Amino acid sequence: MAERDPDCVFCKIVAGELPCVKIYEDDHVLAFMDINPTSVGHMLVIPKGHYDGLLSTPVAELKSVASVLPKLAAAAVKAVDAEGFNVLQSNSPCAGQVVMHAHFHIVPRRTGDGIGLGFRQAPPREDDLEKTAQAIRSEL
Ligand code: AMP
Ligand code: ZN
Repeated sequence: MAERDPDCVFCKIVAGELPCVKIYEDDHVLAFMDINPTSVGHMLVIPKGHYDGLLSTPVAELKSVASVLPKLAAAAVKAVDAEGFNVLQSNSPCAGQVVMHAHFHIVPRRTGDGIGLGFRQAPPREDDLEKTAQAIRSEL
């Protein structure tokens, strides 16, 4: 597992130096309530090791997180009587990441809750899709 970052809020939570409202813990994963929830039941699921985002988190750690995400989301939805949920994961400040320790938000949702996702979408020109897809495929 990665070294902890002494300045990282989530590393401090993992180490027990800062409090959290804990939901779940195993050797690799910690889940706790978000201190500023978007909806009732909003939680964060993190690898215990310090990785600054998705791309620096080893696949084995991501697998540990992925193996508990569905049951945590299902429990949250049931507990707060939600209808669905979003899983959100941001990388870099430009994408809204504030805490630079990889984390997944689970946000319980209800019809008409007005939360939205903030992404504006518009139909592309078809050639744009193929050109962009080709550029992405060539990076794989
Ligand atoms: P992000 O914008 O994806 O980096 O989200 C960081 C999240 O961490 C925000 O939703 C914050 O409310 C949450 N957060 C920050 N500090 C704490 C803390 N000490 N305990 C619980 N959640 C926190
Ligand atoms: Zn950290």
